[in-house]
Amino acid sequence: EVSGPDSRGVTPMMAQYLEIKGRHPDALLFYRMGDFYEMFFEDAARAAEALDIALTTRGQHLGRDIPMCGVPVGTAESYLLQLIRKGFRVAIAEQLEDPAEARKRGSKSVVRRDVVRLVTPGTLTEESLLEARRANFLAAFAGSRGEGALAWADISTGAFGVKACAVRDLGAELARLAPRELLVCDEQERELEAVAGEAGAQVTPLPKGAFEAGGGERQLRAWFGVATLDGFGSFGKAELGAMGALVDYLDLTQKGARPHLSPPVRESEGDCVEIDAATRASLEVTRAMGGGRAGSLLGCVDRTVTAGGARLLEARLAAPSRRLSVIAARLDAVAALVERPGLVRNLREELRRAGDMDRALSRLALDRGGPRDLGALRDALGVAERVAGLLGGEDLPGLLAGAAEGLWGPEGLRELLEEALVASPPTLARDGGFVAAGFAGDLDGARRLRDEGRAVIAGMQAEYAERTGVASLKIRHNGTLGYVVEVSTAQAEKLRRAPLDAVFHHRQTTGSAVRFATQALSETEARLLNAGEEALAIERRIFGELRSAVLAEASGLARVAGRLAEVDVASGLADLALQEGWTRPVLDESRDFEVRGGRHPVVEAALRRQGKPFVANDCDLSARPVKLLTGPNMGGKSTYLRQAALLAVLAQAGSFVPAERLRMGLVSRLFSRVGASDDLARGRSTFMVEMVETAAILHRADDRSLVLLDEIGRGTATWDGLSIAWAVLEHLEGVSRCRAIFATHYHELAELAARLPGSASAHVAATEWNGDLVFLHEVREGAADRSYGVQVARLAGLPPKVVARAKAVLRALEARAREGGPRALEDELPLFAQAAPEVMREPSAVEERLGTVRPDELSPREALELVYELKRLA
Ligand code: ADP
Repeated sequence: EVSGPDSRGVTPMMAQYLEIKGRHPDALLFYRMGDFYEMFFEDAARAAEALDIALTTRGQHLGRDIPMCGVPVGTAESYLLQLIRKGFRVAIAEQLEDPAEARKRGSKSVVRRDVVRLVTPGTLTEESLLEARRANFLAAFAGSRGEGALAWADISTGAFGVKACAVRDLGAELARLAPRELLVCDEQERELEAVAGEAGAQVTPLPKGAFEAGGGERQLRAWFGVATLDGFGSFGKAELGAMGALVDYLDLTQKGARPHLSPPVRESEGDCVEIDAATRASLEVTRAMGGGRAGSLLGCVDRTVTAGGARLLEARLAAPSRRLSVIAARLDAVAALVERPGLVRNLREELRRAGDMDRALSRLALDRGGPRDLGALRDALGVAERVAGLLGGEDLPGLLAGAAEGLWGPEGLRELLEEALVASPPTLARDGGFVAAGFAGDLDGARRLRDEGRAVIAGMQAEYAERTGVASLKIRHNGTLGYVVEVSTAQAEKLRRAPLDAVFHHRQTTGSAVRFATQALSETEARLLNAGEEALAIERRIFGELRSAVLAEASGLARVAGRLAEVDVASGLADLALQEGWTRPVLDESRDFEVRGGRHPVVEAALRRQGKPFVANDCDLSARPVKLLTGPNMGGKSTYLRQAALLAVLAQAGSFVPAERLRMGLVSRLFSRVGASDDLARGRSTFMVEMVETAAILHRADDRSLVLLDEIGRGTATWDGLSIAWAVLEHLEGVSRCRAIFATHYHELAELAARLPGSASAHVAATEWNGDLVFLHEVREGAADRSYGVQVARLAGLPPKVVARAKAVLRALEARAREGGPRALEDELPLFAQAAPEVMREPSAVEERLGTVRPDELSPREALELVYELKRLA
């Protein structure tokens, strides 16, 4: 590709580059040149900066130097990952023919190239670009006024779902799925950018036509090769639009390569517990505050041993079910396994050996897979059959019995793969070496020829040595000459004399040796080379055949993968329940909520690492659904609130729970405002955010909701805050009629709670011991008698002077409240600076000790000992 520029100074290669780039203006173009992907012009500058690689120039365009940078093809994945993380899209243009073919067409011809794939965050399939235990969703939102729908697909696993979703619910759904990329109509791009960004999704705008329902339906029918979609469910206009845009985009980015997709699963409203984004974040269901799995509920309960199982568990926790029958089936499965610890052990032992079937299948479907993926499927099919065997021997409930049946893979496929492949096949088909000996006769023959080459050459060497009488004659392989006969300079004459000169043709003389070629040697060499190439060609053909055999059974394989994941989740949860002593929750359609001896699994695990015990607590919201919780900060209020929510999530996800006993009516919606949500970055005050969120809860909570509210009203003046909290409590109790726990530092609210029939007070207990505040973390009935705020402040290290002063102020305030008089505080409390010396001064050791003494409880002897003790302290 060295041909010169045309009259305008544009080389043919540049013309091709610009043509391709023109079709992909919003992506970085990776332009394949030999062993590199090259980028030019603006792309080069942006990529060089993002990747921190050298920016150089290459040739000229219209009289100017062309900026260029490049990455080696072999390591391109890691660069791709960096670019995708930084929000780029990458178009990969490959060479579509051998350069020799282009040369045949004439000196001005360039190698044909075109984009074979657009790499975007939502369409990744490479192992190194994905988290094994997390789904990688691409989502599409189609919505007009009122009606809307969200579709999602993970092309690395084939999962495909859709549900009706209004714009205002989009945030909640995105928080649940955490898609990497969201397709929206270009007219809505600006409106939806913020909500997508909050969920960590990159927005990709598409023209309005892509979301059109009629086109969507056609796309889907074509994709799944069906005449009607009725078999999959009945879909609304928006749902068809969203799904259509999604498969359209897959066509666009995969350039016709078809990822494996399961038929779309339509989720109806009411299938899953509704959890909004703020609640999800506050409860740290699948992600901890920092964004990782560690520290989240998922991180704490995940005992799965396969990637597919881990992804399924995440999906379950992210969207707990609202269907009693679904939950019961899952719980039955866990319960059956809890009764069979030996089976659980054996299942987990087997499952550990199953690779990631879904992702192997997806790579093969997109023709990005290799022999290793075939090997992974073979191994997983073997595991599946053994797991089916283990399950088959028992009398198991529906879900497991069904799984056991579905674990038998497509007829004969495992046997085929087992016969065809070596034990651990390589990643790439390119270099061969993955087809097992004995599988194909022609391959074995070609390989024998290739491998026997050594022996043949050795035989020729012996023969030549004898014929020439040169015992030291060697046959060597030389990079440029190929196989040659080599003798020392001194012996060379013997080969140059007739009749041997007719056999040995001089090729090269070096300092110490002379090299000859022979006709027979060249022929043997050609045969060897051919045999190697032939073996490779046969292996590649076999790879293609195996791949086709696998893809023909894609849906059967996807089914096996799904069942394996199901068994993995159930046995992982059983293992957890067995080890941690969790119990089976009892669920019904009531509005009850009754926990005995409940624990917060994540806090418990954290405390255990510090060697500290967790105090189990009861919680009964059945008769009086709204519980008012008071108690000192750090007493355990937030933990108690979150614990209630997590127990509900676990139970409805189909897991056993960390409680002696849990009986609850199904929860429809979950709301949790626990812990400060900091939204200052968006320019809203804490108070404003709190009120907006509270408003959302009061609008949406129904009588099946579970609401957890922490310190409503803390962001404003005391009386404002108290009034708001009061009104919210009344609303929850009388209007929403939901189950709620309401933590507050307003002790006045306890009075209200006592008057409302649906409400009751509880407090987290604390006590003072030797002047120190001790948190008992025990939740008891009734309101707290004191708030201990000043003591907590002292624990936090507020200067003693300030603590002492606060105590004095508190005493005065309390006295005033008791007397109810209108006296001004200043009368009793001189300003800080003028305060009496005894208030200003830090208390002495004697004073501190005296503070803990209760004279009435002292025996005369103890009183005497106290005097001695005080004397020592003074
Ligand atoms: P609050 O919301 O009342 O300020 P938290 O719920 O944040 O208090 O709890 C404070 C700390 O107390 C937690 O970090 C935890 O270590 C501990 N804690 C809370 N609940 C318990 C419990 N039931 N048993 C043991 N420790 C607990």
